Amino acid sequence: MKILKIDHLGIAVSSIDANKPFWTDVLGLSFEGAQTVAEQKVTTAFFPVGESEIELLESTSPDGPVAKYIEKRGEGIQHVAFRVENIEAALQELKDKGIQLIDQTPRIGAGGARIAFLHPKATGGILVELCERNG
Ligand code: ZN
Repeated sequence: MKILKIDHLGIAVSSIDANKPFWTDVLGLSFEGAQTVAEQKVTTAFFPVGESEIELLESTSPDGPVAKYIEKRGEGIQHVAFRVENIEAALQELKDKGIQLIDQTPRIGAGGARIAFLHPKATGGILVELCERNG
């Protein structure tokens, strides 16, 4: 598998609006707009940082995965996303190595990226996302 870079860090927050001023006004990052991914019950907001991005995640529902994460572990870094060249090949390689996956096949995430999550049990406790984007 070829990992190209850290694509983004996903940070769980209870409110994007409440947290946005820190990333924009204090750190001077630009805000690329928010987008809701209804099937994952999440609204995401991206702030580019050089070659990578910060992704704030706000749950749209109390039973969404981000709300559950905050309930258990509080706000903070929720996942690290690696950009891969070919997500199908990467998932196949991980399956062959016996790595437990949350997503057996890629799904569509924010910005039209193709994404898949690895199970934290297989990664030492970190939620790892693989992501493939065009361009
Ligand atoms: Zn992500």
